[in-house]
Amino acid sequence: MKKKISEIFEERFGGHGTFYASAGRINLIGEHTDYNGGFVFPGAIDKVIMAEIRPNDTMTVRVFSIDLNEYAEFGLNEDDKPAQSWARYIFGVCREILKRGGVVHGFDAVFAGNVPLGAGLSSSAALESCFAFALNDLFNDNKIDKFELARIGQSTEHNYCGVKCGIMDQFASVFGQKGKLMRLDCRSMEYEYFPFNPEDYELILVDSAVKHELVDSPYNRRRESCERVARRLGIDTLRDADMEMLNKVKSDITAEDYFRAKFVIEEKQRVLDVCDALNRGDYETVGEKMYETHAGLSKDYEVSCEELDYLNDIARECGVTGSRIMGGGFGGCTINLVKKDLRDKFVKTVVEKFTLKYGHAPKIYDVIISDGASKLE
Ligand code: ADP
Ligand code: MG
Repeated sequence: MKKKISEIFEERFGGHGTFYASAGRINLIGEHTDYNGGFVFPGAIDKVIMAEIRPNDTMTVRVFSIDLNEYAEFGLNEDDKPAQSWARYIFGVCREILKRGGVVHGFDAVFAGNVPLGAGLSSSAALESCFAFALNDLFNDNKIDKFELARIGQSTEHNYCGVKCGIMDQFASVFGQKGKLMRLDCRSMEYEYFPFNPEDYELILVDSAVKHELVDSPYNRRRESCERVARRLGIDTLRDADMEMLNKVKSDITAEDYFRAKFVIEEKQRVLDVCDALNRGDYETVGEKMYETHAGLSKDYEVSCEELDYLNDIARECGVTGSRIMGGGFGGCTINLVKKDLRDKFVKTVVEKFTLKYGHAPKIYDVIISDGASKLE
């Protein structure tokens, strides 16, 4: 990828710039916990967006996307917003840095990536954090701290791409380290690294390539359930609840609200249990917790779908160590912790069975926990 970028940069702009990269991410466990003040547990992966960038002594940005074979040119004022949606991620990052009092001048850039788009691995966060990291290095002497770089990416999504996302994706992309997952406390924004170096296991994503659009917003309804129960318990978020507290108010709340809150409370504990297990190198327990999360998401939180439950069943039948829905639900990927010697058999079985039942093959991505945003030599 680097060679291709370098060739095209030289051809379009002459000479060379500096290389930067940032990564997509997975979330091992901790789903629907962010808006409840709980924990998420992401890591950066070996799928990246890479860019060669060089200041051009003007106030114009000139950028070429290799994967889309498209060129964009834009100024740095608010009304210079480019037409191409991919270029808005880069424009947004420039604007958000400027809004925070940072420096951005014109630059030339060529970029490419191998984070699958729209598969739940957050290619958009990889793109934002690659440019945020680069512009901090090139124009700001790295004075913008890393958390702010993540926020710059998040604000880009909110203000220039119409996506009201949380901070996890950009956080993971900026802070990711090889062989480490990060437990982010979504209430205090404190984070801690945990080792993830499974010698005998691999992480495999199975993308169902389905997305069920539901009529009423199921996401908002889940949020409302959680908020209702928290109010009933007299606390800010379900972060501060436990099962004893929930069971005391069981008769005052709807069965639906009860099961939503039960999932959130149990999921918080599962993240903590997985952290303990990783400190012991106990990947079997990690896997069990992943299955428990899937069951909770499917039965209590009701954000699964037939296809994802089927993928989970196949994983179990194959003897996969852990498997669960990754992401908001209603489609997308499962994340699977698979013994290395089972990998080929599992992939073959899951592709065959799923294709037979649903008429299209799921996509398979092997991922390794890797470094996030960085400058390349
Ligand atoms: P994801 O879940 O992968 O983040 P999004 O829809 O949020 O999906 O972001 C995908 C968008 O990010 C693409 O439509 C494109 O605008 C931009 N993007 C991601 N990767 C690339 C790439 N390699 N080249 C150009 N644009 C990209
Ligand atoms: Mg995205």
